[in-house]
Amino acid sequence: MAQEPVFRNICLVHYHEIGLKGRNRPRFERQLKGNIEKALSGAASPLTGGCVVSRISGRLLLVLGDFEDAWAAARRVALIPGVVRVSVGLRTVQQLEAVYEAAQWLMERREAAAPWQTFKVDARRANTNFATDSMELNRIIGQELHERFSEKTIRMQDPDLRLHVEMVEGSAFVYCDTMRGVGGLPVGSAGRVVCLLSAGLDSPVAAWRLMRRGARVTALHFSGRPETPDTSEHLVVALKDALAPYGGMDRLLIVPFGSYQRSLSLLVPADLRVIFYRRLMFAVGNAVAEREGAKALVTGESLGQVASQTLDNILVVDAVSQLPVLRPLIGTDKQEIIDEALRIGTFELSSQSHEDCCTLFMPRNPETHAKLSVVEPLWNELPIAAWVDEILTGLYQR
Ligand code: ATP
Ligand code: MG
Repeated sequence: MAQEPVFRNICLVHYHEIGLKGRNRPRFERQLKGNIEKALSGAASPLTGGCVVSRISGRLLLVLGDFEDAWAAARRVALIPGVVRVSVGLRTVQQLEAVYEAAQWLMERREAAAPWQTFKVDARRANTNFATDSMELNRIIGQELHERFSEKTIRMQDPDLRLHVEMVEGSAFVYCDTMRGVGGLPVGSAGRVVCLLSAGLDSPVAAWRLMRRGARVTALHFSGRPETPDTSEHLVVALKDALAPYGGMDRLLIVPFGSYQRSLSLLVPADLRVIFYRRLMFAVGNAVAEREGAKALVTGESLGQVASQTLDNILVVDAVSQLPVLRPLIGTDKQEIIDEALRIGTFELSSQSHEDCCTLFMPRNPETHAKLSVVEPLWNELPIAAWVDEILTGLYQR
């Protein structure tokens, strides 16, 4: 009697951009594999039957103890930078009868979740050790499934259900459900940045964009304390948690900034206050970056959005930074930022009202076209180095 074919619950993780990276490819793949293992082993992702991750011909394979786990893992993995697509299905032996059984089981399951009428078989073999070629596989698998689902129709263009069969490394992978991943590159493949994170709408989106390009992010928040309550601190902690599924923001540092703003408000002309607050933030950002081994600062600025975000003011503020200041949202419209914040899950938190250092000692008419020749002499009279040292001693991690 023929042995029953063994079915395994699987996710296939596709990552084409890493595939383009030539010599770096093995490093990217190792990084992505490690990030996936870490995400799935966390308490936030309890998988009843465990999960084993391995590499197979240009993809990562997750084998799970339970089919519901495969779905839970796929939803989780789709958020991890570097993942382009995740398919959920079954692995079986490279025998047609086993493939038919796996396909039927998956297609019936899909029928129960979302009824379908038309289908198409998309088969391929990664190597030639399976004797039948892809065209022929499509034809014979399609014919058999049409017999098993005789009330359904095969349709080449835009079918309701696409059944994928891949003959790879001695196994057959069968799936009909695929979800889109966030794309980008695995966190850890691009070094570290310090992101100036307010509790506003823009900077969490900016941080997310850098994580998606593979950077690790140290978030640096300036709170208004002791001049304001600590509401903004709770919000940035919640924002860090909201961004946790993407896996890139591993540290959050908070600076009680209120008393420095008070000092600045007394020492510099009112219209230049914001410029000086921001220059001091950047000076602290550079010092923190050095400690953290980070190679750039990141902000959520977008050109012209508020008074401090004119080209003149950006020039005057940037002049204090040794490190490049990355502004991933510089050419982005507000509505686009809102849409992205909604997609990544930070919008609601960012919309909560809060007092932070931005609201503190604000002038009525802030300068929109600051000049370096005016700002630098005043700046050079301030005890900036001593303040930065003091701030580094007083910042804390959340
Ligand atoms: P956001 O929505 O990110 O707060 P914004 O449109 O309110 O941005 P600004 O308040 O001018 O603009 O801030 C510009 C950038 O400066 C922010 O995107 C952020 O990177 C940084 N920033 C502003 N306030 C803080 C803060 N309290 N702590 C850390 N970074 C800040
Ligand atoms: Mg702000």
